[in-house]
Amino acid sequence: MPGYDVAIIGLGAMGSFTAMELAGRGASVIGFDRFSPPHEKGSHGGETRAFRTIYTEHPDYVPLMKRALEHWERLAAEGSPDLLTWTGVLSLGEADSSLIGGVRQSAAVHGLPVEVLSADEVRRRFPAFTPPGNFTGLLDTRAGLIDVAAALDCSLQAARRLGADLKLDREVLGWSVEGREVLVSTREGRVRAKRLVVTAGAWSGAILRALKLPLLVRRQVLTWFRPHRPEWFQPGAAPVFVFAPGAFYGFPEIGGAGVKIAYHEKGDPLPGFPVPVPPPSKADLVPLARDIARFVPGLLDPDRPPLDQMLAAKTCLYTLTPDGHFILDRHPQHDQVLFGAGLSGHGFKFAPVMGEVLADLALEGKTERPVDFLRLEGRF
Ligand SMILES: Cc1cc2nc3c(=O)[nH]c(=O)nc-3n(C[C@H](O)[C@H](O)[C@H](O)COP(=O)(O)OP(=O)(O)OC[C@H]3O[C@@H](n4cnc5c(N)ncnc54)[C@H](O)[C@@H]3O)c2cc1C
Repeated sequence: MPGYDVAIIGLGAMGSFTAMELAGRGASVIGFDRFSPPHEKGSHGGETRAFRTIYTEHPDYVPLMKRALEHWERLAAEGSPDLLTWTGVLSLGEADSSLIGGVRQSAAVHGLPVEVLSADEVRRRFPAFTPPGNFTGLLDTRAGLIDVAAALDCSLQAARRLGADLKLDREVLGWSVEGREVLVSTREGRVRAKRLVVTAGAWSGAILRALKLPLLVRRQVLTWFRPHRPEWFQPGAAPVFVFAPGAFYGFPEIGGAGVKIAYHEKGDPLPGFPVPVPPPSKADLVPLARDIARFVPGLLDPDRPPLDQMLAAKTCLYTLTPDGHFILDRHPQHDQVLFGAGLSGHGFKFAPVMGEVLADLALEGKTERPVDFLRLEGRF
């Protein structure tokens, strides 16, 4: 049976960067994915992801985000120029909304630059948006979007170049501990490894079933609309934006693919996942069309039915923890097993730093990064 230093289950956002980091440090690595990332069956589908340094969710994400940005900028400079687009992220809402309050507070606490715009200033500077007069706009300028395909291409190719053995379209059926080693089983056979890293996204609860992780998988619907006023929606003319009600958000148009629009705070729970994921329905799309007409009217031709102007609608999965923070820890019974799970709909931007931390823990047993707040122990 072949033996490795580290086996990885799941080569999506977190697992692919973990493979790259481990292989770069000279470890022998085997990684498995049941599909062929990037794909649209898990949590990284939908072409783009936002990044921002102003982080309202927990203060300890800010140093992790700064470190992740160092990685992203280095990888972009080393030959993946499409990785990052600096568009800024514009948050819009009433002054007392948790979104606006949170952004203001995080910027103040961490000394991060933020531009404060009145509703009129937002309308003048970004004609795509029509916020109500009582809304404030906060523009995080150290922010923008990540191209998902470019990111995964970069991590998977680098991992391979550095010697990692990556098996795509190969589902892991189970794992067990034998002595100090871990055995990983697929239909094609078994492999041995000194360490196991589980980064299986929405499937993590099933793969780590004995831990009874408090994970809830939620179906999110993403849509793309062809802009009626394309010049208002190009990077440079429009930032990534989020409106406080429902955290209704969107991205500028990239490469003529349409403007991506969705809700962060809505979505149907899928208890007992893995279960079939229902496709987008009219009930998902009608509220979106209403909010587009209210907040981003230049996206639609007023003389045509909104949904006729939709280019595509797809699903994507959030894996939520009860407190919205990731879980990154060692298996309480088997310390050679590490896992990163429950990225709660905001984890992509952290993928390179999560890879660095999982590699630290797998090879050194410790990390300098501030990740104690993400430990499982004593949290739920
Ligand atoms: C609609 C939507 C919008 C988002 N927007 C943002 C955003 O703007 N910014 C941001 O930072 N984050 C965002 N996120 C969150 C981010 O995309 C996720 O947190 C991130 O992709 C999770 O990474 P992961 O590695 O845990 O899961 P995935 O990227 O899904 O990877 C898990 C992998 O494990 C594989 N796998 C599972 N089971 C097995 C098995 N048995 N054997 C082998 N392989 C297996 C799967 O095939 C999959 O490829 C968004 C997510 C969604 C759904």
